[in-house]
Amino acid sequence: MIIVTRKGVTPDELDHIRERIEAEGLRTHVSQGEHRTIVGCIGDEERLQTVPLLSIPGVEAVHRVLKPYKLASRDFAAESTTISLGNTVLGGQEVVTIAGPCSVEGRDMLKVTAEAVHAHGARGLRGGAFKPRSSPYSFQGLGEEGLQILAEVREQTGLPVVTEVMDTRQVELVASYADMLQIGARNMQNFSLLTEVGRVQRPVLLKRGMSATVEDLLLAAEYVMSQGNPNVVLCERGIRTFGTATRNTFDLAAIPVLKRETHLPVVADPSHAGGSRSLVTPLSLAAVAAGADGLLVEVHPDPETATSDGEQSLDFPEFNELMASLRPFVEAAGRTMA
Ligand code: PEP
Ligand code: MN
Repeated sequence: MIIVTRKGVTPDELDHIRERIEAEGLRTHVSQGEHRTIVGCIGDEERLQTVPLLSIPGVEAVHRVLKPYKLASRDFAAESTTISLGNTVLGGQEVVTIAGPCSVEGRDMLKVTAEAVHAHGARGLRGGAFKPRSSPYSFQGLGEEGLQILAEVREQTGLPVVTEVMDTRQVELVASYADMLQIGARNMQNFSLLTEVGRVQRPVLLKRGMSATVEDLLLAAEYVMSQGNPNVVLCERGIRTFGTATRNTFDLAAIPVLKRETHLPVVADPSHAGGSRSLVTPLSLAAVAAGADGLLVEVHPDPETATSDGEQSLDFPEFNELMASLRPFVEAAGRTMA
């Protein structure tokens, strides 16, 4: 249930509305926008049946929210959510590109990659220290050493860092180094992990699971938000289908569907979606045209020698070309880029 308040509702009226709802055993969530304020009610709505909500001073309208996700729903928010990352914001006017190697392989390679992507307009550095690999025999990441390298390179370049957390036992450690915590596709429905990252005050980059519906993704975001962390960025990274021409099937339509359903920022990962270097640019352009707030792109100094995802990683000149091709699309979409 959401309660839309009258324009100019006073703080006392707002408190009173919340008290009435909470007295029935429901939780309230206030979203204050420039033009309207919304009180979201979470819990057993049947208990509000007997409360004459429209007669409470300050209440203008009452709507039922039939969707299973509440905090993540666009209905629950007065305006779109923006999330700070370094000195930029996700979910605003700017289309934000976050780039870097699939895995942090060492100090030098991360530093040169960060400098190159920074110079070409990336606003965040992404690199995995803990890697979820399909095979236990593949490179698993440098672990804490990788996190230290990420933090050092942030110091040197000023780029905020995004890295994956795979396990509830690592949340505190990863959060002590990273500016944004990535939840990978394979963990999108790891509910204990979602709960744990919901308890830390670090923005979360939530990647869509390979077999997850849009609703599953929004419910996963709801897990994080229901623990008190409202800063969730959703990422479309392709899903598994019967198609074999690409690594995954990029669900382009999920982007405008998500933008309609939720107030959270939505980014796209063209690297994992297509699985091939040659598809990164066309999928990026399509994502921007479909309304994505940002891109997550794998970049490596020498993709041929990458320990993971080399076939889908761009080298520096290719990243530069991507950013140059992106600009007219970003402008046509009425957005800006660095
Ligand atoms: C990654 O970002 O390198 C990664 C492993 O992504 P995903 O979880 O989407 O497969
Ligand atoms: Mn990867």
